[in-house]
Amino acid sequence: MHEVLTPELWAVFNATTQWTAPFTTILNPDLSILKRLPTPDEHDAALWNGADRGPGHANVDRATLRQILLAGLEDVVEFEKRLDRYESRGSQVVVHFADGTTAGGDVLVGADGIRSAVRAQRAPECETVDAGLGAIYGRLPIAKGRDLLPPEALDDIFTIAWDERKVFLQLGSVLFPTPPDRAGRMLASGLQIQRRDDYIVLIVGGRHERFPLDRETMSRWLANGCNAPLQTCWRTGPRVRSRSCGRAIRRPSSLSTCTPASPACWSLRPE
Ligand SMILES: Cc1cc2nc3c(=O)[nH]c(=O)nc-3n(C[C@H](O)[C@H](O)[C@H](O)COP(=O)(O)OP(=O)(O)OC[C@H]3O[C@@H](n4cnc5c(N)ncnc54)[C@H](O)[C@@H]3O)c2cc1C
Repeated sequence: MHEVLTPELWAVFNATTQWTAPFTTILNPDLSILKRLPTPDEHDAALWNGADRGPGHANVDRATLRQILLAGLEDVVEFEKRLDRYESRGSQVVVHFADGTTAGGDVLVGADGIRSAVRAQRAPECETVDAGLGAIYGRLPIAKGRDLLPPEALDDIFTIAWDERKVFLQLGSVLFPTPPDRAGRMLASGLQIQRRDDYIVLIVGGRHERFPLDRETMSRWLANGCNAPLQTCWRTGPRVRSRSCGRAIRRPSSLSTCTPASPACWSLRPE
C-alpha cells in the first residue's frame, strides 16, 4: 500500500485506518469473552512497512479505501463496462466488453467476483456453487457497540461467537483515528472523502437449515424496519422481532463459493 500510494494518499490511509490489537476474540452466546487468542501475523512487518504504528492488522472502511485508491485516477478508471471475454495476442491481452468496445494491456486482473467472467473463460471447470450458508450483513453505530459488547471486541482484529445451532455472529470494528472527510481535507490537498462515523460491522449467518433466508422470514425482517438488533437477531436468528439497535441491514445473501482450479490454470503462460 505504501508503495502504490502517493505520500499524501498514504497519509490519508494511515490516518483513517484502525490499527487493531493483535487478537481474535471468541465470545460466549451471551457476548461475554470466552477466549482472546493472540493472532500475530508474520507478514505484518513487511506489509505495513512505513505505517505510523508498528506491525499490526489494519481494519479499514471499504468505501474510504476505494476513494483513496481512486484519487487521481478518475480519468483512467472507467465504470459501467461489462467484460464478455478476453483473448491473448502475443504478450498482450485484449478484453472485449458487452458494449462492443475493447481494451488492451500487459496483464488482466480478474477481480470480477464470485461469478467471474474471467475465471469462467480461464478455468471453465471451476463451478460457482452454493456454500450452504446464508448471512445478513449490518452495521452497529459505535455507541451501541460500546453498550452491548466487551471492549476487546472494539480493539481486536475480529470477534466471533456461535450458539448451539452453530449460527454465527462476526464482529469487526472500524474506528477512524481521523474522520475520513477531515483526513482528506487536511492531508491530501482537499481530497473530498465522504464523512463516516465509527461503526462495527456485524454478520449473522449460518447453514441454510438453521438460518433460512426465505421470503417470508425476510418480509418479517423488512417489515420491522430493516433494523438488525444484534442480540435478538443473534439469539433467535430469523425468528426475530425487531428491537431497534442496529442500522439498516444489507440485503441478506446466500453465500457462494467456487470449486478449486487445476494447477495448470494458475500458470503464467498465455492461453
Ligand atoms: C458478508 C461478507 C462480509 C465480508 N467481510 C469481509 C471483511 O470484513 N474483510 C475482508 O477482507 N473481506 C470480507 N469479505 C470478503 C470480500 O468481500 C471478498 O473477498 C472480496 O470482495 C472479493 O473481491 P473481488 O474483487 O474478487 O470481488 P468483488 O468484491 O465481488 O468485486 C467484483 C466486481 O466485479 C464487477 N464485475 C462482475 N462481473 C463483471 C464483468 N463481467 N465485467 C466487469 N465487472 C464485473 C462487480 O460489479 C464488482 O464490482 C466479506 C464477504 C462477505 C460476503
